[in-house]
Amino acid sequence: MSEPVAERPLDDRGLAAALIQAVRAFEFRLQPVSVGTVIEVGDGIARISGLHDIMVSELIQFEDETLGLALNLETDLVGAAVLGDHQHITEGSSVRALGRIISVPVGRALLGRVVDPLGRPLDDAGPIVASNERPIERVAPGIVDREPITQPLITGIKAIDALVPVGRGQRELIVGDRQTGKTTLAIDAILHQHRDDVLCVYVAIGQKLSSVAQVVATLRRHGALEHTVVVIADASAPAALQYVAPYAGCAIAEEFMEHGRDVLIVYDDLTKHAWAYRQISLLLRRPPGREAFPGDIFYLHSRLLERAGRMSQELGGGSMTALPIIETQMGDLAAYVPTNVISITDGQIFLEGELFHAGVRPAINAGLSVSRVAGAAQAPAMKAVAGQLRLALAQYRELAAFAQFGAELDHRTQEALDHGARLVELFKQDQHQPVEMVDQIVLYYAAAHGYLAGLTPQRIGAFGQTLLRTLHDSYQGLRNAIEIHLELTPEIEQALHLALAEALSAMQDVGG
Ligand code: ATP
Ligand code: MG
Repeated sequence: MSEPVAERPLDDRGLAAALIQAVRAFEFRLQPVSVGTVIEVGDGIARISGLHDIMVSELIQFEDETLGLALNLETDLVGAAVLGDHQHITEGSSVRALGRIISVPVGRALLGRVVDPLGRPLDDAGPIVASNERPIERVAPGIVDREPITQPLITGIKAIDALVPVGRGQRELIVGDRQTGKTTLAIDAILHQHRDDVLCVYVAIGQKLSSVAQVVATLRRHGALEHTVVVIADASAPAALQYVAPYAGCAIAEEFMEHGRDVLIVYDDLTKHAWAYRQISLLLRRPPGREAFPGDIFYLHSRLLERAGRMSQELGGGSMTALPIIETQMGDLAAYVPTNVISITDGQIFLEGELFHAGVRPAINAGLSVSRVAGAAQAPAMKAVAGQLRLALAQYRELAAFAQFGAELDHRTQEALDHGARLVELFKQDQHQPVEMVDQIVLYYAAAHGYLAGLTPQRIGAFGQTLLRTLHDSYQGLRNAIEIHLELTPEIEQALHLALAEALSAMQDVGG
């Protein structure tokens, strides 16, 4: 259209020629725009007539530029959820169908950024110049596109890496009552990833903005924000935005995965996500079922979590590991949404309020927590030392229940109880203090070979610290050897015994 007309002034002839050329080059293009009318609006839902050729999940735009999402396609009406403030939408105003499915910007430009589920920045780091966009929903990769999970994802959380190991591409549920350390567990797993080159996506759904701000501050303080994308639909955001948030985060993660990267995504939390969806469904007058959730609540989460996995080598070999979070009421795992998500995931980490308040933090219940795939993904050295700890802990819990009755205990039972109490101490860990895999292996080796036997439970924490300090100060060679071999060769074991003896004697020096 705007041909570079000429730098020098045109005479009349030149002007006429230029005009004729412009007129000839003009192309009349018809762009069909589907326009409808708002019939009814309220509670974040609009009913619209006149949008005939619209798709499910298509974006629409109201007169005041607010976006909406077409969800219910009926014969004459379209039920849409408003993705913003619905206060300024009036009955009778016009609505345009935008002709595209809801999508988000994706790619490296999002790393280190805090965005809403439509990819609009919520931080003050300026606009996002993304290379690409993706629809937020897609069909999960099929069976031939996937590969078995064989590589561990080290979280740096002792109780997880030893007892419920997570593999790259796995879906492991974090479930527990409110204020039991669910978010902290997931954030700590993200904090540990900078070393292993795993990119992270943290999706906050329906949380208080103040809690999310704390999470972002923690990520930034530990230098983890630069390899993380934070997607937020807080409690005050429209239900529709909360509903699309996890899918948007998943699309952002998928882009990295398809470029061959390993990605960790946290959905915090899917209980609030289900609530948002229930709210929308009820307002759209879909029939309610159990607990007033709509009939497709299972599909809501299965289609999201199925998108995690490890891709085949032909597809780049990337992976998406998902840590969905579910909040329970009074530890009730049998409620509708928890049972659904438990059945979709490859295992769960069950956090218990009682343990949390007793000071066992992270409050992981080792008996009820499982990981169904990643045993295969554990390093041989880790497997060798951690396997027996899991058994010992399970046995401890059973015995402890019996010991409550005050029965006379035989020597072996008492020993198993003492050993268990020391293990509980060994797995305690402060927040934001990840422990590297090598160091974990040495700690568990100490437990498995009787080095803790002479210590009271109160001193286990101090011993762990002394041991790690000894390792870092004087046994870097040993640490490197374990890291390279990932197996306990006779030479490594020999060096391990030296290091352990040194740490123990250092403990005795400080008294005891
Ligand atoms: P909500 O249900 O509100 O989302 P939550 O289950 O996500 O809570 P967090 O917010 O992670 O729980 O943790 C609750 C509190 O416990 C926080 O103040 C956190 O700092 C503290 N906390 C969590 N884990 C640990 C830990 N390992 N050591 C010490 N304090 C911890
Ligand atoms: Mg939380």
